[in-house]
Amino acid sequence: KLKEVVTPDMIDNLALEHFPPCMESIHLNLRKNHHIKYGGRLHYGLFLKGIGLSLEDAVKFFRDEFIQKLAPEKFDKEYRYGIRYNYGKEGKKVDFSPYGCEKIINSTPGVGDAHGCPFKHFDWTNLKKFLVRKGVGDEVLQNIESLVEEKNYSKACGIYFTVRHPSHQISDEGITHPNTFYAESRKALQR
Ligand code: SF4
Repeated sequence: KLKEVVTPDMIDNLALEHFPPCMESIHLNLRKNHHIKYGGRLHYGLFLKGIGLSLEDAVKFFRDEFIQKLAPEKFDKEYRYGIRYNYGKEGKKVDFSPYGCEKIINSTPGVGDAHGCPFKHFDWTNLKKFLVRKGVGDEVLQNIESLVEEKNYSKACGIYFTVRHPSHQISDEGITHPNTFYAESRKALQR
């Protein structure tokens, strides 16, 4: 049975096994730097909400990481609001949906930003490094490289999904939402 509730202690493993490259990449960035910029907090925060992390746990998750590098009071003053905002508890009080691939692909990450679609925004050397680390072999790498050149990022991500979950069918158009990637991945590996 699918677990609907995700807690902070589960996230490292989930990221490794079930996150799409965009979200795994933000996660690794956060763990490494104990900080991510606004775009990353927005994209990742909404994704985590979508997979079942409660507001309380989201605050705990980001706080525990951020306070490794800054004072807890600074986190409470500057970062707590944004997380509550994602959950519709501040400002306009909108219960925002996690971003789909189109929005992420069309975002424009600047220097030091952690968000974006690796298929679109990483240069080939970094994308390749990422994919090789995840077990993608030479033949598929070539395939993905051509799709990236054709700007067919959803299909490239779909091929990556297939490598990670060889016996699980997904739609022909590939991956169009990070939360779909996650949900399908959970289904595939829990059978
Ligand atoms: Fe993420 Fe979508 Fe890019 Fe895949 S195609 S890495 S799910 S933004």
